Amino acid sequence: MPPSASPSSSASWIELDAASLRANVELFRSFARGSPQLGAVLKGNAYGHGLDELLPVTHPLVDVIYVIAADDALRVRELERQAGLAPRQVVVLGALTADEALELARAQVDVVVADRAWTDVATRLRAEGLRLACHVHIDTGLGREGFTLAQLPEELGFLREAADVLEVRGALTHFANVEDVTEQDYARAQTHAFDEAHDRLLRLLGLDRLQRHVAASAAALLMPDARYEAVRVGIALYGLWPSPETRLSARLVLREVPRLHPVLSWRCRSQAVKWLPEGAFVGYGCTYRCPQPTRVAVLPVGYFDGYPRLVSGKAHVLVNGQRCPVLGRVMMNHLVVDVTLATNDDAPVVATLIGQDGNECVSAELLAGWAQTINYEIVARLGAHIRRVVV
Ligand SMILES: *Cc1c(COP(=O)(O)O)cnc(C)c1O
Repeated sequence: MPPSASPSSSASWIELDAASLRANVELFRSFARGSPQLGAVLKGNAYGHGLDELLPVTHPLVDVIYVIAADDALRVRELERQAGLAPRQVVVLGALTADEALELARAQVDVVVADRAWTDVATRLRAEGLRLACHVHIDTGLGREGFTLAQLPEELGFLREAADVLEVRGALTHFANVEDVTEQDYARAQTHAFDEAHDRLLRLLGLDRLQRHVAASAAALLMPDARYEAVRVGIALYGLWPSPETRLSARLVLREVPRLHPVLSWRCRSQAVKWLPEGAFVGYGCTYRCPQPTRVAVLPVGYFDGYPRLVSGKAHVLVNGQRCPVLGRVMMNHLVVDVTLATNDDAPVVATLIGQDGNECVSAELLAGWAQTINYEIVARLGAHIRRVVV
């Protein structure tokens, strides 16, 4: 496959396919019986895809934008100003300092209240004449952030006292065990706990409704009851399956496996192509020895960029639609691959580290398998320094 966006520099680059993102959005829109709002989770530099590059593509397609860090929310507001876009609901899921909370109130960004450390913020909001929209996080069984059912409603008394400045707009929880199983008993128990917590919240605050958002990708796909008012879709928006079990469950629950379209490809141009003689060693530790004369390509990519060292001796990249094994160890800034069968001369080649080339594909899942991890970690750890281009 000819690279559609190869820069002239010797570094690797990431291609982001806008059409694939749109197709993934369409899929979730098509599920939206009772039309829950579609929220895009853009945390972790948009799962390593690149927030700056992906935000302009995603923003017009979704109803809510979720991030972890206050800075990222402010970047969304900045982009909206620059591009003249209508402001979207933006929710910061992560923990905040009081200064950040005040800045988010000014930017009309929603925050998540997951503990009692908000009295100081309330005082400062009042002093400045600001209001902050917030969502109450309920811990229904993940054991991460949020109020447990046992803490409700007593520990939320402060919210009633701060109602003039902390406007409770929503309630959320996060599932612990949808992706690792093909039956959803634990998730259903979490849903029931959430419903109970939601009722208590409404009574406590004297409200008659809240924006409930509970489902991440896997639950949004597999559990219609968990879609509530809004879904928080991360990994699947980027065209990646949350897990093999989720894919298997989709076949059972939805009767067919919906097609997800991977948004990201990662490529580079070789920095050298040359023959190594029979018996030559490759890489640190001399762990590989050429059993025959071998044409190798030296690639300017290594574990600094997020290519896992653990895949040494297992992985392949794609060159001219052919699988080319990684020889020896992955180094900080280099990979050496066997291109004997992929090219007929020593001219530079383009290698695909993640993505499709001809009929072959190295998926994030495949690379994750070699690296004994999950696709989430593979993409999230792609270096922020790598150039991203939307194609
Ligand atoms: C990361 C995250 C999501 C998105 O999860 P995916 O499995 O990537 O869809 C949703 N909600 C919360 C609270 C998260 O931390």
